[in-house]
Amino acid sequence: MLDADARDRYLRHILLKEVGAQGQQKLLAARVLVVGAGGLGSPIIQYLAAAGVGVIAIADDDRVALSNLQRQTIFRDEDVGEPKAARAAAFARALNPEIRIVALDEKLTADNAPDRINGFDVIVEGVDNFGARFALNAACIKARRPLVSAAIGRFEGQLSVFKPWAGAALPCYRCLVPAPPPREAEINCAEVGVLGPLAGVIGSMAALETLKEILSIGDSLAGRLLIYDGLAASMRTIALPRDPQCPDCAELLRDG
Ligand SMILES: [Zn+2]
Repeated sequence: MLDADARDRYLRHILLKEVGAQGQQKLLAARVLVVGAGGLGSPIIQYLAAAGVGVIAIADDDRVALSNLQRQTIFRDEDVGEPKAARAAAFARALNPEIRIVALDEKLTADNAPDRINGFDVIVEGVDNFGARFALNAACIKARRPLVSAAIGRFEGQLSVFKPWAGAALPCYRCLVPAPPPREAEINCAEVGVLGPLAGVIGSMAALETLKEILSIGDSLAGRLLIYDGLAASMRTIALPRDPQCPDCAELLRDG
């Protein structure tokens, strides 16, 4: 049951009939793994911690760089040079001391991903490389865990939720991206640049989709890709079909 402080802290959630005290208890009981404490990770961590997600693990093996501060809003000037996972965890603990925050100062790989996602209800990623995305995708399919996946570059952002086991037509990340694009730099903001607030827009939407998955409310983005064009100030969603030849979900689902 929620105590008086919790009722006060989460009052704006409790007022929503789709959430209520029961939904808030679900959030407090939920465990989410956030992979990537960067531009997308900043709003994701901020909103999940503020929302009272009971356990939040933050995986990132990077250190804060001066060039991060233009969009990675949970870090301050004095954090430059410090490990991101630890600084992000400190930020989240200061925001909400009632929840548990775990810092994982390491890179997600195909080898460790199955172990790292173990025990989490939802995995949300805003990483900048395809290796980690592919590793998470395969591990999440095997463990039947929803993967909220966000990406940004220049003025455009993309967001989807992958849970191919939840419906025969639902795709996984590799149905969308079968192999790393030959020019990875095209969509890596370290190479092409990104307008700072775009990270806030897409990261906040990723946090919202994560809460929806926990609460089982609304229409999941599973099977759809949301594309936001910041310059045009327009947003659209396109249908994402499953690829029957997909190297990840076709096989893994057959095995499972
Ligand atoms: Zn697939």
